[in-house]
Amino acid sequence: MRKHIPLKKFSQNFLIDSSIVKKIVEFINPQLNEILVEIGPGLAALTRPVCNLIDELIVIEIDKYLLERLKKCSFYSKLIIFYQDAVKFNYLKLFNKKDRLIRVFGNLPYHVATSLILNLFKNIKIIKDMNFMLQKEVAERLVALPGSKSYGRLSIIAQYYCNIKILLDVSPKCFRPVPKVDSIFLNLTPYTNFYPYFTHNVKVLSYITNLAFQKRRKILKNSLGKLFSEKVLTTLNINPQERPENISILQYCQLSNYIIENNIYCKSISI
Ligand code: SAM
Repeated sequence: MRKHIPLKKFSQNFLIDSSIVKKIVEFINPQLNEILVEIGPGLAALTRPVCNLIDELIVIEIDKYLLERLKKCSFYSKLIIFYQDAVKFNYLKLFNKKDRLIRVFGNLPYHVATSLILNLFKNIKIIKDMNFMLQKEVAERLVALPGSKSYGRLSIIAQYYCNIKILLDVSPKCFRPVPKVDSIFLNLTPYTNFYPYFTHNVKVLSYITNLAFQKRRKILKNSLGKLFSEKVLTTLNINPQERPENISILQYCQLSNYIIENNIYCKSISI
């Protein structure tokens, strides 16, 4: 088979380290009766060992040349293939067809990883878990706590929905071509029985965090001033002089609930 020339535009950094692949597959721990979806199978570094354990795997790949190569693999008959952009993919339709929660995994294309994850959050109710390889900086943003430089809107929305565990640090040497960044493999499991945070409407939470973090250096009194007076912030035990990175997820939820409970009109939110 002709050698595949990796395409930068699709973030094609293929996993070549067999011990890392083995650990990743052990962490994913695919089971026969589960609905597993791989984003970007590429040259099948993960696809092959996962197919050794289960009878059916759904794959979403944007590069048709890579899909052509999959046709020649021994496990091809186990694959349900979607030649699509995983960011725009209709996961809900897949769930409706299968009628079971889906497990999503992949060594994600780093250029679209954040939008992909945010899109999956929109369908959180149909997801059992997600196991992703990500650029280290994105992984750090997902798990960041208040007060840290990486803490922001992505941390708040991700931790609102999911329990997140970092599983592996992965060196650039484990990929070809070698990326310029370090990587982290992590698990995101949506909360089911116990929810640590509550908001009446996550769109409002998303709106407020967006507003607050648009200018990280601005104090809340200024960035959220059009929604909350200083008096209201103080009543909610939030110091109007604080910067957005020092406000906890619980406090952002309180802010969003205040908006909803007091029927405060925000033009940009369709509740
Ligand atoms: N899974 C392989 C591995 O671990 O070696 C490949 C991982 S590579 C980092 C990312 C893969 O995602 C590539 O196969 C690439 O073509 C594919 N890809 C890139 N953008 C995509 C998108 N928007 N939707 C679906 N697949 C995409």
